Amino acid sequence: MSTRSTANPTDIARETLKVLATRRMLPTPENYQKVYHEVAGTAPEAPGLEELQMIVRRLAEHAATAKRPLLSLDRALGERQWAKVEEALAKLSGGGSDTVSWPDLIRELLKQWQTAHSGLTTQRKREGVEQVLIHFGSDPAMLGPKLQALVASWAQSPAAPGGSLTEGEALAAAVEATPSPAQAVRAAPQAPDGAVAGMLRDLVAQTLEQGVVPRLVRFPDLADGARSLVARVREATDVLALQGLSKELKALWVRIELRGEDDAQLLASVLSLLRLLLDNVAELVSDDQWLAGQIDVVRKVMTGEVDRRSMFEAERRFKEVLYKQGTLKKSLDEAKSTFKHMIATFVDRLGQMAESTSGYHDKISAYSERISATETIHQLSSVVHELMADTRGMQLDIARSRDELIETRRQVDEAERKVHELELELERVSGLVRSDQLTGTLNRRGLEDAFERELARAARSGAALSLALLDVDHFKRLNDRYGHQAGDAALVHLARVVQETLRPVDVVARYGGEEFIIVMPETPAAQAVKAMTRLQRELTKRFFLHNQERLLITFSAGVAQWRADEPVDALIARADQAVYEAKEHGRNRVVLAGA
Ligand code: GH3
Ligand code: MG
Ligand code: MG
Repeated sequence: MSTRSTANPTDIARETLKVLATRRMLPTPENYQKVYHEVAGTAPEAPGLEELQMIVRRLAEHAATAKRPLLSLDRALGERQWAKVEEALAKLSGGGSDTVSWPDLIRELLKQWQTAHSGLTTQRKREGVEQVLIHFGSDPAMLGPKLQALVASWAQSPAAPGGSLTEGEALAAAVEATPSPAQAVRAAPQAPDGAVAGMLRDLVAQTLEQGVVPRLVRFPDLADGARSLVARVREATDVLALQGLSKELKALWVRIELRGEDDAQLLASVLSLLRLLLDNVAELVSDDQWLAGQIDVVRKVMTGEVDRRSMFEAERRFKEVLYKQGTLKKSLDEAKSTFKHMIATFVDRLGQMAESTSGYHDKISAYSERISATETIHQLSSVVHELMADTRGMQLDIARSRDELIETRRQVDEAERKVHELELELERVSGLVRSDQLTGTLNRRGLEDAFERELARAARSGAALSLALLDVDHFKRLNDRYGHQAGDAALVHLARVVQETLRPVDVVARYGGEEFIIVMPETPAAQAVKAMTRLQRELTKRFFLHNQERLLITFSAGVAQWRADEPVDALIARADQAVYEAKEHGRNRVVLAGA
């Protein structure tokens, strides 16, 4: 260590801080100084020792009594001979009140009181005496020496040039000569050493009592230690007692610091536990937006600097999370029990249905038992899975009866429709109706009328008249595949396309179910064939839409030109023959009827 004594002060300072840290010592000025000297290999300076020596020397110079013990104290301090210091102090304190000669002291006090001192007014003198009385009035051992020291300090001040001062002059002089704090320390004329020491003791005691003890509520043993130190600080009047106290104070700081570390570790582990808990809760509630948001806030609070405000905020949010989780759990439980109840009811009903079917019943009651024993939704769903597989056979039965129901319902509908049709048929046979209800084209009655009219006109004018008979290809198949109603709609579509493609003078009539007759006035057969071919093309462009599905409707057509005097039935028969031929030749074609 001593080899370090010449080292750079900066290096020593750095090393000192390192040692403090490794020894876990509080970085107090005392600790720093102690370690500094240890590192530097120099002798530690006793703090304030020189000042103390100066005070002792001054006291000795002006002491009316106890001059000798003060001088030997001064010597002992200079030699750092602590045993001798103790001896001298014992002499001084032991004979304190006895060594003071009160009559001498009072005489000296009166003398110095009346003497005019430069920079000292009677006011100042009175304050000094009052200070001593305040601090040592109740301590007979100290009162004499302190008063003695005060009077000696007056005597030390140079006498004022003009002898006694008036109060006014003294005040002015006092203002002029008010010492700076540094001067006051050096000269200390108004603050006797004892007074300063007493005030410092009070300060230490107060600091312990009001500053330290209340912060040790959680450590009653440390608080008790601090309290007993308070009492002893107040009683300590000599250097030895103070030295002992300083050791105990240091020990107390170390104990407090160690507890503080425990505290910090405890806080850190509680925080990490809380974070772990938060992570788990967050995973549990990941599908709830609100809860996830709240937990995120708590998390953020916990990751920042933790202080009382942030802890309060975290606590508040956490309480909300717990509440929400509670309600969530309740509704989850409710949902689970409802689900259980529903499944149980379902099984019950199945049981009733399957009563006649032997074999099922036993299985059903086994499932019933398993369901009531389940605890989690997961278990429940696996039971339900097995149940579903087992009841597939029953499902088929149920589906069959359901189909039967639907079929019955359809039959009812069909019957209703037939009634409606019959009503229409009644109207038709009554001869009042000339048009087809479904397609809006002429019906047979209307066609007869049209034939009468058009044939007469053709006979009169001699103009060619042609007839086309259309039969939809594979209409039965369309009905079977897409249903009767789709068939009807197809017929409506076809009729519309026919009417829109042909001329307004052409007569369109529904001849049978999916057969139409078109009467084309002033049209020779060749043109009629062309018209039908155009119609075929048109149908390939205008699809029949059924449930968004494009269906191509084709027809086979027979075309025949009317011959003069030819009866309508004969004309239609020829056309019908042509249709037959068209079908024979592969359908979707137009055939001109022969003679
Ligand atoms: P092909 O083209 O070879 O003649 O075959 P197709 O299926 O058209 O055969 P057919 O002419 O023998 O059958 C006509 C079918 O049209 C019979 C009937 O089910 C159906 N039908 C008759 N009238 C109607 C009706 O008003 N609406 C519906 N949707 N279908 C009808
Ligand atoms: Mg037909
Ligand atoms: Mg047909």
